[in-house]
Amino acid sequence: MPTKNHVKISKEITGATNVYGIIGNPVKFSLSPLIQNTVSRYMGLDNVYVSFPVEDGQLEQAIKGAHSLGVRGLNITKPYKQDVMPLLTYIDPLALKIGAVNTLKYEQDGYVGYNTDADGLYTSLLQNNIDLTNQDIIVLGAGGAARAVCMMAANYQAKSIYIINRTLENAQLLANEVKKHYDIDVYILPTGRCEEVPDKAICFQTTSVGMGTSSDTTPIGDCEFFAKLSVAVDLIYNPFETLFLKKAKQSGAYTINGFGMLIYQAIKAYEIWNEIELSDKDLKVLITEIEAEYIRMNV
Ligand code: NAP
Repeated sequence: MPTKNHVKISKEITGATNVYGIIGNPVKFSLSPLIQNTVSRYMGLDNVYVSFPVEDGQLEQAIKGAHSLGVRGLNITKPYKQDVMPLLTYIDPLALKIGAVNTLKYEQDGYVGYNTDADGLYTSLLQNNIDLTNQDIIVLGAGGAARAVCMMAANYQAKSIYIINRTLENAQLLANEVKKHYDIDVYILPTGRCEEVPDKAICFQTTSVGMGTSSDTTPIGDCEFFAKLSVAVDLIYNPFETLFLKKAKQSGAYTINGFGMLIYQAIKAYEIWNEIELSDKDLKVLITEIEAEYIRMNV
C-alpha cells in the first residue's frame, strides 16, 4: 500500500492537456498508450493518451460522449473498426477501400475517420528497403488486416496478389473487393495448394496463427512454400519472431515482424491528430526507445 507521507507533485497533466485514447474491447493490454505517450513526451506536446474499454452496444454513446468531452483523437481497435464507420462525419478514401477505420480526428461537427494500418505497414517496409512495385505478393489470411495489406499492395503497383486462406469463400470475397478498386491480377488458393505461388514472392502473414500462446504453430508448414519467398512479413509482434518467420528465415528469406507496423500506424495517427510530420531521425529514435521499453516489459 502506498503511504501518505510523501506526495509526488506531477506537473505533467494540466487543465490545458489534450486528451486522446483508444476504444475497443478489450484494451487493457494495448501498447498504444505506451507508444502515444512516449511520442508526446519526445515531441514536447501537451497530450495524454488513455484506454477506454467500451462494452458491446455502447459504441455510439461512447463516440458521442467522447466528442462532447472534446477528446481530440481516438484509435479504434477490435471489435469496432467497422462498426464505427456509420458514426463518422467523413471517411478518408483509403479507409473506405479497406473497409475499416482505426483513427478518428476531432472536428467541430464530429469525428473524421482514417485507416493508418496500410500506411504504417508501408513505412515499415520502406524502413527495410522493400519495394512492392512489380512484385508478386502473397497474403496469408483474408480478414481485416489482409484487406489492408491487399489494398496497400495494389496501391503501390504490385504485379499480382495471391490470397491463401483457410476459408476459400473469404479469400474470394477479398479478391472481389480488391478487383473492385484496382486493375491487378488477384488469385486465390486453398492452404493445401500453397506451393503454387511464384518464385521470389513477398509474403504477408496476416492470420492470428502463431501469436501468444499458439507460438508453436504456423498457418503453413510446407518447406517448398518457404523456399519461394524473398521476403516474409508477419503482422504478429508477440512473439517477435514467430515460427512462420523462423521457417522463412531458415529458407533464406529476409524477415520482418509486425512491431514496426504497430509503431508506424500509431505514429501516422499522431501525425494526423497533431498535423505534423515526424522526421526520419525522430522515427528512428522513437522506434528504438519504444522497442527497448517493450522488450523490458516482456522479460
Ligand atoms: P481477422 O479479421 O479476425 O482475420 C483473421 C484471419 O486469420 C482470417 O483470414 C482467418 O481465416 C485466419 N485464421 C484465424 N484462425 C486461423 C486458424 N486457426 N488457421 C488458419 N487461419 C486462421 O483478424 P485481423 O484483424 O485481420 O488480424 C489478424 C492478425 O493481424 C492478428 O494477429 C493481429 O494481431 C495482426 N495485426 C497486427 C497489426 C500490427 O500493427 N502489427 C495490425 C492489425 C492486425 P478464416 O477466413 O478461415 O476465418
